Amino acid sequence: MLNVESIQNGVVIDHITAGYGMEIYRLLHLESQNQPVALLQSVKSQKYGSKDLIKIEGTSLPERLNILGYLDDRITLIYIQDGKVIKKFHPIPPQELKNVVKCKNPRCITSTEANCDQIFRLSTSRKYRCIYCNQEISVRR
Ligand SMILES: [Zn+2]
Repeated sequence: MLNVESIQNGVVIDHITAGYGMEIYRLLHLESQNQPVALLQSVKSQKYGSKDLIKIEGTSLPERLNILGYLDDRITLIYIQDGKVIKKFHPIPPQELKNVVKCKNPRCITSTEANCDQIFRLSTSRKYRCIYCNQEISVRR
């Protein structure tokens, strides 16, 4: 059982917008994470009123943590080692988003081909563009 009060080694995804934790859980593929994960919903927060929180215990962390920089820039990532906070930061928007958002262009290959990865890259104008059709999506917040 994961002790949700504190973890010795792992990462806490803090200040998730309330109600959004489950989507982040899903987008990070945490259901296939082979270690204890706790999702806490509507936790009281001094800063934002109420928030969601995800705790991941263990040393192998999900590869997709970098997509948090696109999903919600209020998020704080807290890395914990031997019970101590070693790093605490807001994730920055990643260079590439893979299978996070869908391209809205109905003529895009990703709309017509079923098994095509949805890939967006960050352009110099800080917009994400579909690598196949150049369709633009903006940073969420
Ligand atoms: Zn596209």
